[in-house]
Amino acid sequence: MPLAQTPSDTPVLRRPRADRIQHFRPSVFTEIRELAERHGAIDLGQGAPGLDAPTALVDAAASAMAAGHNQYPPAAGLGELRSAIAESRLCSTGVRYEPDREVVVTAGATEAVAAALLSLCNPGDEVLTLDPCYDAYSAAASLAGARLVAVPLAMEGDRFVLDEAALRAAVTPRTQVLLLNTPHNPTGKVFTAAELAVLAQLCLDHGLTAVTDEVYEHLVYDGGKHHSLASLPGMRERTLTVSSAGKTFNVTGWKVGWACGPDWLVESVLSVKQFLTFASGTPFQAAVAGMLADVEAWAAQLRGTLQHHRDLLRTGLEQVGMRTYRGEGGYFLQADVRGAGYTDGDQFCRELPLRIGVAAIPSSAFRHGADNTGPDWLVRFAFCKSAEVLREAAARLAGLRKG
Ligand code: PMP
Ligand code: GLN
Repeated sequence: MPLAQTPSDTPVLRRPRADRIQHFRPSVFTEIRELAERHGAIDLGQGAPGLDAPTALVDAAASAMAAGHNQYPPAAGLGELRSAIAESRLCSTGVRYEPDREVVVTAGATEAVAAALLSLCNPGDEVLTLDPCYDAYSAAASLAGARLVAVPLAMEGDRFVLDEAALRAAVTPRTQVLLLNTPHNPTGKVFTAAELAVLAQLCLDHGLTAVTDEVYEHLVYDGGKHHSLASLPGMRERTLTVSSAGKTFNVTGWKVGWACGPDWLVESVLSVKQFLTFASGTPFQAAVAGMLADVEAWAAQLRGTLQHHRDLLRTGLEQVGMRTYRGEGGYFLQADVRGAGYTDGDQFCRELPLRIGVAAIPSSAFRHGADNTGPDWLVRFAFCKSAEVLREAAARLAGLRKG
């Protein structure tokens, strides 16, 4: 029988923590949500829709569960969903994918992006993206041991624009991947056809692979158009296009995402994805497969609703002197807090829940540039909420006027 160890014999627990996650903290979404809950504030921080999913989609998921579709799907996703994704991409972008080899279903777009960077980058490689950007990009790059090189978007009037010279200057021999997001979180920018042509040329000039995150592809307002990088000449063979059902159908909790691309890229993603989650959400995959055929009819009305909600929020912000940037697509408006008497968006977001019962995210949380400089006075507000909630938020924002 082993002798009982005395406390002094017990090795000290070393509590290891990998270097590559040393900068990981609870995400800003969690932090602001907790702050909002503590103060009973309306949470316009996280981009979590306050709008209903299509009834037919919810019913289809319930039916799939009742019919016993509750076990693992194939690692690449249900065949019917892969076919529906390929069909839908052909209709919306004119790019054709072979469902068996060129489409993979993932646990949300987040897993697709992470698996892409993990499978494409070696330690020391660089991932080129635009600043500000969605926070999961820098985390995924860190996990891959890669460096995220985030090149600031320029600001012109009420728009964010691509700075071609800065982007070209940032390419090095270590650059492997261009990681693009359009429509863009957090700025609300939709990249123009001309900007995409510049990005495509950059990839062609430097032998880069592109990963494009298009989760808001159906949510472009004011008659604007979403352009997909893979549809440009020479790009299909080097582009992994990522999207997700979450934003399109107001089901962010389902985490059904996907990636389409040439077989070498999809195989690469799948080789990692199979060891991250293997597969997920069989009944949800089945339901999304059925709904994708009608995506345009659904998306047209969702766009109309969200455009109206964007305008409600914009009016609420501008009535108190906060200038907003163009929300061309997606879920978010950028507002300038200087009009409300602040210079620092971070301080504004920490005080707002307590002061007037509204929560938002400082745009600095999306900044990943090398020198971490940028407009400190920007704050991101989500408008993917019900009209009632946005009207109440606007009424509370009016309280800022009283000082
Ligand atoms: N990409 C962008 C640009 C996002 O804003 C989000 C967050 N909603 C995601 C990816 C995550 O998508 P999913 O929930 O499908 O993982
Ligand atoms: N994409 C969502 C946003 O930008 C948040 C997703 C998350 O909480 N990680 O608000």
